[in-house]
Amino acid sequence: MRKKKWTNCPSCGARKSMQARKNLTERVHPAGYPPLDIKGLDGQFCESCGEGFWSLKSERRIARLLAEHMARHDATRVVAAELASVQEAAKAMQVTVQGVHKMMDEGRLRYVFAGGSRLPIRKDLKDMAKTRHRSLRHD
Ligand SMILES: [Zn+2]
Repeated sequence: MRKKKWTNCPSCGARKSMQARKNLTERVHPAGYPPLDIKGLDGQFCESCGEGFWSLKSERRIARLLAEHMARHDATRVVAAELASVQEAAKAMQVTVQGVHKMMDEGRLRYVFAGGSRLPIRKDLKDMAKTRHRSLRHD
């Protein structure tokens, strides 16, 4: 649905109000984390009500940068015992190591930066294993 080129606003109904916009900066406020400014985004927005959509590429960028932002912040407050290696995560969720990296890239699996590596958070693995089949269907 988001790949569609909008003309009329699906939110307020204004006609021919949707405009493609590039190079936007969005400030996101993840709950429990400091705000993050994400640059270089594009999407389609309504000139009348301001509602709009990010492009698919920008949505992915937001998800990836937000996950990185949270990971850097969590590195200061999550203890090593709560972290799993990527190999452990792959085994727990029955996916490949590449699959784990992809989930972290897409912001679907929380992780922490520790010693330059990305380490998933152990208690999230069980929940992810349950939803795995549903969420991987996007691929
Ligand atoms: Zn509108």
